[in-house]
Amino acid sequence: MNGWMGSILRVNLSNGKTVKEPLEENIAHHYVGGRGINTKILYDETKPGIDPLGPDNKMILGAGPCNGTLVPANSRLTISAKSPVTGFLGCSSSGGVFGVEMKYAGYDAIIIEGQSEKPVYLWIDNDHVELRDASALWGKTTFEGRKIIQREVGHPDIGVLGIGPAGENMVRFASVTSDWGRSHGKTGMGAVMGSKKLKAIAVRGTQGVKVARSDLIEKASKELLQDWRDNEVIIAQSNVTMEKVAKIYKEYGSTFFFTVENDVFGSAPIKNYQEGTWGEKAHPLYPDRLKEKYYLKPRSCFSCYVPDDRGYVITEGPFAGTWGTGLYNMHQYSVGSMIGVNDADALVRATALCDMYGMDISMIGAIIAWTMECYEKGILTEKDADGLRLEWGNSEVALKLIEMIAYRKGIGELLSEGIKKASETVGKGSEKFAMHVKGLAIDTPDLRAHKAWALGCAVATRGADHCMGFSQAEMGLGGWDPDPMRGEIWDGEKVKGSSEKDKGKMIKWLEDIRAFQNSMQVCVFVHYMPFAPRIGQPEMCAKYYNAVTGLDLTGRDVLHIGERIVNLEKAYNIREGWTRQDDNLPDRFLKETLPAGPAKGSVVDLEPMINEYYSERGWVKSGLPTREKLTALGLETVAYDLENRGKLGIQ
Ligand code: SF4
Repeated sequence: MNGWMGSILRVNLSNGKTVKEPLEENIAHHYVGGRGINTKILYDETKPGIDPLGPDNKMILGAGPCNGTLVPANSRLTISAKSPVTGFLGCSSSGGVFGVEMKYAGYDAIIIEGQSEKPVYLWIDNDHVELRDASALWGKTTFEGRKIIQREVGHPDIGVLGIGPAGENMVRFASVTSDWGRSHGKTGMGAVMGSKKLKAIAVRGTQGVKVARSDLIEKASKELLQDWRDNEVIIAQSNVTMEKVAKIYKEYGSTFFFTVENDVFGSAPIKNYQEGTWGEKAHPLYPDRLKEKYYLKPRSCFSCYVPDDRGYVITEGPFAGTWGTGLYNMHQYSVGSMIGVNDADALVRATALCDMYGMDISMIGAIIAWTMECYEKGILTEKDADGLRLEWGNSEVALKLIEMIAYRKGIGELLSEGIKKASETVGKGSEKFAMHVKGLAIDTPDLRAHKAWALGCAVATRGADHCMGFSQAEMGLGGWDPDPMRGEIWDGEKVKGSSEKDKGKMIKWLEDIRAFQNSMQVCVFVHYMPFAPRIGQPEMCAKYYNAVTGLDLTGRDVLHIGERIVNLEKAYNIREGWTRQDDNLPDRFLKETLPAGPAKGSVVDLEPMINEYYSERGWVKSGLPTREKLTALGLETVAYDLENRGKLGIQ
């Protein structure tokens, strides 16, 4: 097979056995790779109702056909398992080098099953697969663990995925860290790894990836680059070319979005989304300030020409010597504006701590913000919080809480269970301002100003999500005019972020193409730019995919496969007890108007958008897929399975 290595590595931690199995060609063609194949394996090999932190859960690492080829930005890797945060399908993707090394070692996927009795790490050197004792690594931070493993195996240039103390302590939203701070942050994959006593996975590969037509990959890449140069987009009230956007990205990474949200849209997430504009208070966290004070040379993942990854270091003050990589807009929100902190040193320190302990920073931000609002409203007191004064902007307390959560100390024990469980335990109306969907923290700008994003967050299969329905496209001021080239496939008219109109159609389209790209394992920041309608169209995906695999897909086929993957994910969740009530948003977005700024007075009218979205998907009103829809997508066995469980949609 061109593009795929044709092999899956299965590792059983209960009995220490490892086996290399073939990847079936029809599975590769139907589900592509990464996100798609992982979901297929989980659906087929795990039973609904299993404990996500028990031995029956499986953790799948999935690469895609593009990893390790000449396709630009092809380094993504997806980790999937049943999520200990949501109880539904968990999956999280990251760049770096691991996915590429894994392909070069000869594997399209790695299935980790069972549970080890003692801490171990997995060392894969091409065909050599070995479980090694990790007792000496247990308790180490992610950065320390990586360093020790590199020394032990004698190779500095390898891919390493690891957990820190939070994963070991099964903090439900623990992350898996790779490459000095790149994170598989969402849905608690680090807790699953910790439950298996698997401290790390290190991989080295020296094989190549066979592709069908390298000349066509080169041609498609030239076209993509040209699109980046030519596209004129509207951002922050001025027309700029994508080339300029690329320059801004290189300079500041995604931190420039925070400026746009605070100054233009009035949708910066302030104090648990109680406000949308922070005026000058936000300025210490602006990209130019961060760059001036902390930035090192930009870095990029394997094969990417948009190095948006910022290395950082604090050179003076109480946190001097703190360093890491990856400062994004998520960090400005989560450990900045969401908790009322505008002390940039504290923000950078909090970012580094989350990476070292191995925790999802979005969950940390949402849970600390919820705790602070509980304190403000008198629901939690200093006595409940081990004497901590949980005031907005108290960065000392925020840093303390991060440590207490990672080690499950004091109030950290409650918070480590995640925002949904913590708010249900505390009660007293605090559930209403726990800002999550399906248990996963909302980490977007204020959804009252961005209606497609609101819908995308509500319906995403893994819980609140800024990626899967990547609808920043609506943020181009004045709305998003879909390019005429897309017209045949998606004929939605001009779509404005401030209006609910046509958002069901838009989110379905975006989810389907994103599912395909996440399965090819290319980076959506390069292959799909917000504000630039020409980049990331299905035809471009098909060009790359065909050049790599030698197959002959059209843009329409790309969307069809993406739709199949989304429906399979949905079916997985339905088996786990999903109902329409789970596709929802916190009351704050639905009932409380934004108090000031350009989006003043906005709320989200969610129900009509959900109805439109289900109808576009061909699902019934309760959100269940029908036999006809599943059959049209080649998911007949899934239809049969859901029917047997009484969970098939009936028209
Ligand atoms: S855009 Fe950023 S995340 Fe994506 S491949 Fe490039 S460096 Fe990695």
